[in-house]
Formats: sequence, structure tokens, C-alpha cells
Amino acid sequence: MSADNKTTVIVGAGSIGLWTAYHLAHANRRTGLSSSSTIIVIEASASAFGETSGTCTGCIHYKFNDEIMDEFGKYSFAAWRDLAAESNKLYDAAGLRFDSIFGLTKNDGDGQELLPDWLRKSDAWRVDTEFLGAENAMVNPVGLGKWLERACIDMDVRIQTSTKVTAVELDQGNRATAVTVIREDSSSVRIPCDNFVLAGGPWTPMVYKTLFPSSSIQIDSATEAGDWIIFRNPNPVAKNSVAFVGLNDIVGEKLEFAGRNDGTIWVCGAKDHKGTLPPLGSRGLPDAARIAELTGRAYHFLCVHNAGDLDAFEELEVVALGRAFRPVTLSGRPMMALVEPDKLSTYNGFRADERGGNVFLCWGMGLGD
Ligand SMILES: Cc1cc2nc3c(=O)[nH]c(=O)nc-3n(C[C@H](O)[C@H](O)[C@H](O)COP(=O)(O)OP(=O)(O)OC[C@H]3O[C@@H](n4cnc5c(N)ncnc54)[C@H](O)[C@@H]3O)c2cc1C
Repeated sequence: MSADNKTTVIVGAGSIGLWTAYHLAHANRRTGLSSSSTIIVIEASASAFGETSGTCTGCIHYKFNDEIMDEFGKYSFAAWRDLAAESNKLYDAAGLRFDSIFGLTKNDGDGQELLPDWLRKSDAWRVDTEFLGAENAMVNPVGLGKWLERACIDMDVRIQTSTKVTAVELDQGNRATAVTVIREDSSSVRIPCDNFVLAGGPWTPMVYKTLFPSSSIQIDSATEAGDWIIFRNPNPVAKNSVAFVGLNDIVGEKLEFAGRNDGTIWVCGAKDHKGTLPPLGSRGLPDAARIAELTGRAYHFLCVHNAGDLDAFEELEVVALGRAFRPVTLSGRPMMALVEPDKLSTYNGFRADERGGNVFLCWGMGLGD
């Protein structure tokens, strides 16, 4: 983005939208542009990280099954290491812990001492410390969202929640000049802009089509929903409580537990490829049968038995449950792109502008498994 850009509107206060705002605000500070630049993040739900980003597992990947993503994973992981070195607060506020991802395989019981105290142990399971690569880390997505939102606000990023972007005005060169937003009370406001970033997570393909109905680009996505439950950790929270354990090999399908620094344990199972994305600003309802199955798994694998009496259970308290949709592109790679202006609209009075385009797409995730 060039120096004469003043107002950047970012759609979506999830991980992608807020990190974009964070890095842009930092760049503006470094180049002395912060006083002449405004960054506005518009979010449909009631809070930042209110959708996918706040309800995901929180694994920070290093290794991907794709050459380009693998390089990107290393870059991203180094950025996390740098950030952690800069801010100790990430450990407490965002529940960050490095080397905290484990997989279990049916085997000889090796490595049990590495496992968190909330998980049952078995001498028929071996601990794999490279389940998601030799380098790995965990965060608590809820804590990370709060930390990131605060860091953005401290750099004067404006975050507008419960507000939807419903239209984008383009000039003759197909540059975005303003957006229309609808607030919770149904009032609408026009916000002039110099840059426009669409970071709408799994809603991106749908929102792109609404905002740019005559674009020659069609964005395709695949459906990958996950039902999840968060339980209160029945055990005292210690440093090693912050850990991810994948039990795929033990149960024969995707089953993941993630212990967090806020005294909770997140549980998620197999992907559902048929679910329907909920309307913008609302969370998906989980499948009741799937939740019942996950609850059974939690009672089986978590340390909820009274010592010495396997029939005596502690009741597991449910803190939250829901269904989240992964923003999956058909290539399995994220898109970070400037949309070529001539592809944004087929308006036939289009005249190429020497400044180029100013509409950016930023969405999608790399598939780690
Ligand atoms: C079950 C599950 C587990 C996962 N586990 C991991 C993991 O361990 N590690 C990992 O790296 N990734 C994981 N992911 C993927 C990760 O959650 C996503 O890649 C990431 O959260 C996407 O961030 P985002 O900002 O693109 O999307 P979101 O967090 O969904 O944010 C997009 C935001 O845009 C808003 N929005 C969209 N359109 C508009 C509009 N027109 N106006 C206003 N607001 C709008 C939406 O309300 C939404 O809040 C997981 C995903 C799921 C579903």
C-alpha cells in the first residue's frame, strides 16, 4: 500500500483481519504515516474473534503437506517466535506455549510423562512430539483475540462490531472509494476509503459475490465444519495443562483435545463436509448426535474419575459448545491478493487507473492434516 493511502477499511475482525490491521498500523508507525492514516475494521458479529478465529483449536502450525505452505508455515512460525520475544504478555494473556502439541499412537507407552495432567495415561499409547511438526505451539484463541484487539486499539485502529459491510462503491478505474455499512439498529453509514481489504473468513466467497456482483472472478470454497465443546478442566491448571493432544490413531478418526491457560479443555472431532454456513453475524448450531459422541469421548479420555474408583465420575461442566466452519479454498492454500481492477466489475466504461487497484482479498487457511 502506498504512502498516499489514508483510510483502509478491513472487513472482518477475525484472525486475518485483525493481524492485517495490526501489521499495517505497525508499518504506518515505522514510516511516520500513522497520523495521516486511518484503519477501520468492520465486524458483523458482536465481538472481535467472535466467529471462526475465537472458536478454533489454537494450534500454531509449522509443517504443512504442501511445499509452498511449508515455506509459509516456517515464516509464520518465526513471526510468532519474534512476537513472543517482544511481548511476555502473550504467554499469560494469549495462553501461548511452545512445544505443546502431541499425538498418540497405539504402541508401547513411551513419553507419557510429556502429556498434560488432564489426560488419562495408558501404557498402550506412545507420544509423538512431531504430530504437527518438530516446531509447534498452542494459543488460547479467546485470549489471543482479546490481546490482539487491545494491541490494535492501542495503535488507534477503529473496530466497529455488530456492523456489516453491504456495498462497495467503485470509480471508473474500479478502485474502491467508499463502503456502505449497516449497523445493529439498521441505520446505514457510508465510509469513504482508499484501500479495501476483504478478510471475511468462510463468508468471503459469499460476501465477495454480493459486493462485486459483476466480477469475472468466482471464488470457490469447500465445506469443512467442526463441532466443538469446551469443558471446565476438572484438574488444577499447571503449565503443562496448556497442550494439544491428537488421538486420531487411538480412535480411528479425528479427535482433538486442547487444554488452555484459562482452566478449560476444548474438544473437537471429525470434519463435516456437508454443513451449511450460518448467516453472517451468527454462530452455527452443532449437531446434537456429534456433541453427545464428543461428550462420551471426553468422559473416556479426560481425568474425571475419582482416584481408585473408576465408576465414580466428576461431572464435566460445559462452558460453551458450537460449530465452526474452516475457510477452505479449493487449492488448500490461503489467498492474499490484490484483485486486478479489470476483473472486479464488467462495467464497460472502465478506464484503467495508473494507481492500479486497491481491493485486496485475504482469506483461507493452509491444510495441515
Ligand atoms: C474446528 C476448527 C479448528 C481449527 N483449528 C485451527 C488450528 O488449530 N490452527 C489454525 O491455524 N487454524 C485452525 N482453524 C482455522 C482457523 O480458525 C481459521 O483459518 C481462522 O480463524 C480464519 O480467520 P479469519 O479471520 O479468516 O476468519 P473469521 O475468524 O471467521 O473472521 C472473519 C470475520 O469476518 C466477518 N465478516 C464476514 N463478512 C462480513 C461483512 N460483510 N461485514 C462485516 N463482517 C464480516 C465475520 O463475521 C467473521 O468474524 C480451525 C478452524 C476450525 C473451524
